[in-house]
Amino acid sequence: MNAPQMDIKEFHWMLDMLQSIDVGLVVVDREFRVQVWNSFMENHSGRRPDQVIGRPLFETFPDLPESWLRRKVETVMTLRSRAFSTWEQRPFLFRFRNYRPITGVARYMYQNVTLIPLLSVDGQVGQVGIIIYDVTDIAVNRKALEAANAKLAALSRTDALTRLPNRGYWQERLEQEFRRQRRTRQPCALVMFDIDHFKKVNDTYGHQAGDAVIRAVADAVRQTARATDIPGRYGGEEFGVILIDTTARNGRVFAERLRKRIAATPVEHEGRTIVFTISLGIAEATETMDTPQQWLEAADQALYSAKRGGRNRTIIHQD
Ligand code: GH3
Ligand code: MG
Ligand code: MG
Repeated sequence: MNAPQMDIKEFHWMLDMLQSIDVGLVVVDREFRVQVWNSFMENHSGRRPDQVIGRPLFETFPDLPESWLRRKVETVMTLRSRAFSTWEQRPFLFRFRNYRPITGVARYMYQNVTLIPLLSVDGQVGQVGIIIYDVTDIAVNRKALEAANAKLAALSRTDALTRLPNRGYWQERLEQEFRRQRRTRQPCALVMFDIDHFKKVNDTYGHQAGDAVIRAVADAVRQTARATDIPGRYGGEEFGVILIDTTARNGRVFAERLRKRIAATPVEHEGRTIVFTISLGIAEATETMDTPQQWLEAADQALYSAKRGGRNRTIIHQD
């Protein structure tokens, strides 16, 4: 076997490998005329080599990001060095449908792309090889993980019974608003409220009914509050609402609307009608308060006054 025969054999092996390899392989010249189009590209694009080879790439695929690809190829040719693009930077170069059953959530194949300069015999870069890697599995897994993490973070901030912010998260928001109020000097009212004689609700109708009452209160808060207000479940049957840009007097309007709505809306549970009320305390953040805890205590004191005063009422804290 002589040398030229070896070369041709090797050449054929190489071609076979390039054809059957599970990455996309395209070679274009300076005018973007296609020189190589392997079977990966054929299978995913539905275009046979004879429909593609010799023709400018952008003619066959008008969807391609032409100016971006031209710039990349130009750089590769001039600098004689490789260039990369990941799916995070650009989800795909060629719009191929994703057909994998396990990753059916992705509509298109996510792609990493490598461009390599190809030297011709005279040492010039006459062609550029474009390699397309299918990274749909990686991208989909990463996205699923990100979505799961975001959901987990939201869950860790949410009270399961009421879907309101839970105590920990709500207190964070309270601290944040307290600091913000220090800066802006805008009024900010805090409403704390507690269901009246809730033990009796549990004792008379059962714990399940008690839970239904707590959920009904949360719904009433959601319906009464503005988008910028920050409600939270503070304890068992105790709630807090931060009212941004609101004075205590205006806070009372909110509090009274909520109180009346709840008093007028009994909860129906397993055929029984549960009438119940809430008591509310309001405190505006003031200059004399050093910590958000003091603000909370002021609202709590007002709530305590409302309880002592006979319940089903709103009291504003007086300094
Ligand atoms: P007051 O008018 O003074 O507020 O009287 P109250 O009976 O509501 O008194 P208190 O606030 O001490 O009672 C709270 C009760 O709420 C005690 C507890 O068993 C019950 N509770 C706390 N969390 C839950 C819950 O998630 N579900 C139910 N069903 N009950 C709860
Ligand atoms: Mg109570
Ligand atoms: Mg209580």
